[in-house]
Amino acid sequence: MKQQPRFDIDLDKHYNATLVIACSDCGRETRLHMKTLIPDRSVHCQCGSPIAMSPGAMLQAERRVDAIKAAYRVR
Ligand SMILES: [Zn+2]
Repeated sequence: MKQQPRFDIDLDKHYNATLVIACSDCGRETRLHMKTLIPDRSVHCQCGSPIAMSPGAMLQAERRVDAIKAAYRVR
């Protein structure tokens, strides 16, 4: 199975979600806006390693955003 990137989610004050994806090669974090993210579109870290989110990982990320919003009671 392909290794999934590790990621964190940040919500700004407008509750826009940003994915913070850690590169598995160099550990550098790349920030991507959830709204502009397309599954399997190849995004590359500054070191050149691909950090694409698979559809499965995207789904996981969306669920996490939902959970965070629920915690903030913004739904
Ligand atoms: Zn990297």
